[in-house]
Amino acid sequence: MAKAIEVEAARREILARVRPSAVQAVRLGEALGRRLALDAVADGEFQPFDNSAMDGFAVRAAEVARAGLGSPVELAVVDESRAGRPATHAVKPGEAIAISTGAVLPAGADAVVRVEDTERDRQDDGAADDRVFVLAPAAPGANVRRAGEDIAAGDTVLRAGTELGPAELGVLATIGLDPVPLNRRPRVAVVTSGDELLPAGTALRPGQIHDSNSHTVPALVRLAGGEVITTRHAPDNPQGTRAALVRALEADVTIVCGGVSVGEHDHIKAALADLDVEEVFWRVALKPGGPTWFGTRGETLVFGLPGNPVSVMATFLLLVRPALLAMAGGDPAGRRITARLGAGYEKPTDRAHAARCRLEADEHGWVATPLPRQGSHILTSMVAADCLALIPTGTAALAAGDAVEVELLDRASMGR
Ligand code: AMP
Ligand code: MG
Repeated sequence: MAKAIEVEAARREILARVRPSAVQAVRLGEALGRRLALDAVADGEFQPFDNSAMDGFAVRAAEVARAGLGSPVELAVVDESRAGRPATHAVKPGEAIAISTGAVLPAGADAVVRVEDTERDRQDDGAADDRVFVLAPAAPGANVRRAGEDIAAGDTVLRAGTELGPAELGVLATIGLDPVPLNRRPRVAVVTSGDELLPAGTALRPGQIHDSNSHTVPALVRLAGGEVITTRHAPDNPQGTRAALVRALEADVTIVCGGVSVGEHDHIKAALADLDVEEVFWRVALKPGGPTWFGTRGETLVFGLPGNPVSVMATFLLLVRPALLAMAGGDPAGRRITARLGAGYEKPTDRAHAARCRLEADEHGWVATPLPRQGSHILTSMVAADCLALIPTGTAALAAGDAVEVELLDRASMGR
């Protein structure tokens, strides 16, 4: 039997064969959750002009330095600066210009007095009087937002690889960038296999089960930034398997679930070889997920994942997701932290374990407690688990309290 490859080595083999997908221009409105392909650099400053932080009056600070309730300073209101409509006059001695939040600070002014600190009469016809009384002093620069305070021209506001959330989209819009350069989503084909499988929503006959991988895997693909272009099913015979794989191999990434093992009715590996997919590795020193196969045909990455519902998810998260993240222009690493084990854990030394754990915080930090049922068919444990504790090959036993590296099953990877 071929010697199994260590998970980290498997990951390196995979990433060494990944190319970031082509850069395309995508409208900002479609870019949520995707990653920038290039640094975003501001070509101007933000805000582009000195402006008011308040509704009030633009003044010359020196003229209102001694203003107070008992010593109002009277100024002539000569113009108005509204948001989007700058004043045409400058503020000269004895003058003020009415100003709105965000409006351009007029020439001549160096401070804004808040409307709450002024009094302005109404004329008989209801229109605002052309005089204002300033009832509080304003220091130079008071209530003025300077041009470029947030972003200076030439600033790199976001680095290539950054995932675009609401704040990032807002910053890109602020610098006026739309469309934005993103790596194309990797196109992924998913193939499930097995004569026992029926789609959910159909009644089972004896010996049949519903196909869950055809839902877990495409969902994982989308969360990892991939686009599922086809989900196919292969029966347990060579001709049907080949037919299902031919089209699936036209994708950037082909993920086959099940049928990859050494059983009499496992036809995937033979069909892949027949279709000129070259093997890179077969078997990973990992539980769950030992019978995992990986190969390439041209630029297409081909994963043969074990069919068991937990194994397929664990191997996807540890091996396929990094590839999709890298192709989509992101950092391939999942979110990992160090936790203490909440209970002892024993295992053979011949392979690593990815133990499904609950994760809780105590006063000393994170505690990962393995769930009681670790069978690779116990799919409900993937609902209960918060993380996968990665216990290396060579480790036979860990005691409660021992440090362990865990990969988070978080919103990014699992959507919750
Ligand atoms: P295999 O890798 O094809 O030997 O399958 C291993 C186990 O996973 C068997 O119990 C299969 O019935 C089960 N299995 C395989 N594919 C799926 C699937 N798409 N959905 C649910 N269970 C599956
Ligand atoms: Mg099968």
